[in-house]
Amino acid sequence: MHFARYNPIRFAHLPTPFEPLPGLTERLARPGGGGPALWIKRDDCTGLAGGGNKTRKLEFLVGDALANDADTLITQGAVQSNHVRQTAAAAARFGMACEIIFESRTGSNAVDYNRSGNVLLDELLGASTRTVAAGTDMTRAMAEVAAEVAERGGRPYVIPGGGSNSIGALGYAECAMELVSQANEMGLEIDRIVTATGSAGTQAGLVAGLAVMGADIPVLGIGVNAPKDVQETRVYDLAVQTAALLGHQDRVTRDMVVADCGYVGAGYGLIDQAVIDALTTIARSDGILLDPVYTGKAMKGLIALSQAGEFDGETVVFLHTGGAPGLFGYQSELEGKL
Ligand SMILES: *Cc1c(COP(=O)(O)O)cnc(C)c1O
Repeated sequence: MHFARYNPIRFAHLPTPFEPLPGLTERLARPGGGGPALWIKRDDCTGLAGGGNKTRKLEFLVGDALANDADTLITQGAVQSNHVRQTAAAAARFGMACEIIFESRTGSNAVDYNRSGNVLLDELLGASTRTVAAGTDMTRAMAEVAAEVAERGGRPYVIPGGGSNSIGALGYAECAMELVSQANEMGLEIDRIVTATGSAGTQAGLVAGLAVMGADIPVLGIGVNAPKDVQETRVYDLAVQTAALLGHQDRVTRDMVVADCGYVGAGYGLIDQAVIDALTTIARSDGILLDPVYTGKAMKGLIALSQAGEFDGETVVFLHTGGAPGLFGYQSELEGKL
């Protein structure tokens, strides 16, 4: 995989650390030697204004924007979007303007949700923001903002929600290569990679990268919003497009895409006690901060599946996709006011 062909612009702190999770491994040990040996890939440490998985995607997306002579990044997300924060930071870093459209997806009126956490940082980073109702056609809304920007003489570049198109997903094909080479250097055999999956670019990029390399490491996506069939189709389609960019579309097969969407709870961005318990467990077992919307939900799934014996005897890598700034947007929930 020759990523230099796609004009990435380099600003992420890479490679991210790849470390064991001794505390959680011990807590999830089952009688008779069962339970997983857990490792963590620290993509919360990508270095861009709090970091997270959108940074790798933005290396390719901002590279493409600059190659197209754009001066304004436009994107969208939920109010506590980590993708929006990282896009706002990338825009600032490269002297571009940033136009954000928030979709009030969770319907929350809480002050912390609407003013603290990622939102506070977006404003600090200089993004201009506007908010539209849940269910708005966001693709169309972004096209309208792009037209506005062009009308006033700007040169817009539209980044889809989550940075999840094939260009953005290249960042996770590259992460797959980085992770496999770290494991090879350590002589560590990985049985499974577990990641949160939302707008699909992360899982799709991993699947595409692993398939193109021929690494044969299964990826389990834990869904945060959509039902299984919808999520798997989304990931598969994007994985095929990403592998096509890399010249090997035929290497991605449908069976490589697995999402477990049984841990979504009440919906996107809505947390429950099991998410809070998962966040708390790993914070106290290994000093790792997860986020309420994605990694906390994925950890809720990972813990439940481990307890059910799903990973017995496996070496499992949890991809930490970031998001801890979002904790401050959920202060009341975390304080037990659910
Ligand atoms: C966006 C995000 C995800 C999901 O990644 P997708 O590529 O959208 O599936 C996971 N974790 C965090 C913290 C995120 O911000």
